[in-house]
Amino acid sequence: MRNVVVVGGGVMGSAAARTLSRHAQVTLLEQFEPGHDRGSSHGSSRIFRLAYPDPFYVDLAAQALPLWRELEQESGQELLDLVGAVDHGPRERVEPIEAALRAAGRPCEVLHPPAAAERWPGLRFDEHVLFHPEAGRVHADRATAAFQQVAAKSGVDVRHGVRVASVTPARHDRVEVVTDTGEVFVADAVVLAVGGWAADLVARTVPGLPTLRVTQEQPVHFPAADPLSWPSFLHYQGATGSEPGAYGLGSVDGVKMGFHGVGPQVDPDHRDRTVDQAALAQVVAYAEEWVPGVDTTRAVASTCLYTLTPDHDFVLDRHGAITVLAGFSGHGFKFAPLIGGLAADLVAGRRVPQRFALGAR
Ligand SMILES: Cc1cc2nc3c(=O)[nH]c(=O)nc-3n(C[C@H](O)[C@H](O)[C@H](O)COP(=O)(O)OP(=O)(O)OC[C@H]3O[C@@H](n4cnc5c(N)ncnc54)[C@H](O)[C@@H]3O)c2cc1C
Repeated sequence: MRNVVVVGGGVMGSAAARTLSRHAQVTLLEQFEPGHDRGSSHGSSRIFRLAYPDPFYVDLAAQALPLWRELEQESGQELLDLVGAVDHGPRERVEPIEAALRAAGRPCEVLHPPAAAERWPGLRFDEHVLFHPEAGRVHADRATAAFQQVAAKSGVDVRHGVRVASVTPARHDRVEVVTDTGEVFVADAVVLAVGGWAADLVARTVPGLPTLRVTQEQPVHFPAADPLSWPSFLHYQGATGSEPGAYGLGSVDGVKMGFHGVGPQVDPDHRDRTVDQAALAQVVAYAEEWVPGVDTTRAVASTCLYTLTPDHDFVLDRHGAITVLAGFSGHGFKFAPLIGGLAADLVAGRRVPQRFALGAR
């Protein structure tokens, strides 16, 4: 049996370890403790949706949906709640999403804003409104833990508190992984799924990685009545796509909201995780105007990393015996079980979408 080392125990590395365990002896190395909050995968919720203006991502999300159900079966936990989602904003932004869903044969419904406000009194709506039921939330912390539990049950050696310092080709097409305490692993294949740390470790290890911009984002939770019944929502705030859009969803911690990709660039090892009060005030002001169903006097902010590629497409590719899963650009979580499968395909020498190749940008 081949032996594979996966570096990074966020949702992507954990998903990869679980799928790889079906055909290989796998070790998963994560520098921090289980459920830590220094990367991109922590917190109770992420939006799941099929709705993208680009048919390519509609198709990927549709492939991920049954794979989430499979993980629920394997782990015995509910991970995905399809409570639906509502997108609103300028017609130019919402119509391409509707068109992509319809072209893929997926359900959606255009609503008049007053009808939408009656249906979801916690929200106010802009000029054009689209409801799509195959959307909602993934229970994020639970999902990453479920990938790891299932992986461990199938024999994966899951190790926390182990930081990888270098990954280099070794003799006989193998790869040497050295930790910062000097422990050495020699593997047939290595998967690097290191989130915001890719800009350092992956860039040092393989050629062709696009420039990655790592930012510190600041989602905010607000108390609300029955938050788990809320649809997830995206509000496009301008016609061109250059304006920051607002997103939100119900979670066990209340209604979570934020602006997509507006945070400052940071170094994941040296960042100040204190709450930026000005950025918090902007989300509170947005909620006061558009989300009457939340209590804006009790906002709680946290921080999280985005790892952005120039075009927001992911990087999924193999260089020799090293597979790279990187650049999930603030929208990767919903695809995690699919990415785990694509990682196993890459390790086995199978092809994955060329659009994600190293050197493609
Ligand atoms: C605020 C916010 C909201 C988001 N909302 C959504 C959403 O609604 N829907 C959606 O689909 N996606 C969303 N995303 C994006 C999604 O969460 C990420 O794409 C996903 O979590 C990325 O996972 P990852 O495994 O690549 O990174 P990470 O979770 O950061 O995992 C990488 C892991 O590698 C470890 N590591 C790094 N270097 C080393 C090393 N040298 N040795 C050992 N371990 C190492 C790190 O400690 C870390 O645990 C959101 C992200 C943020 C920040």
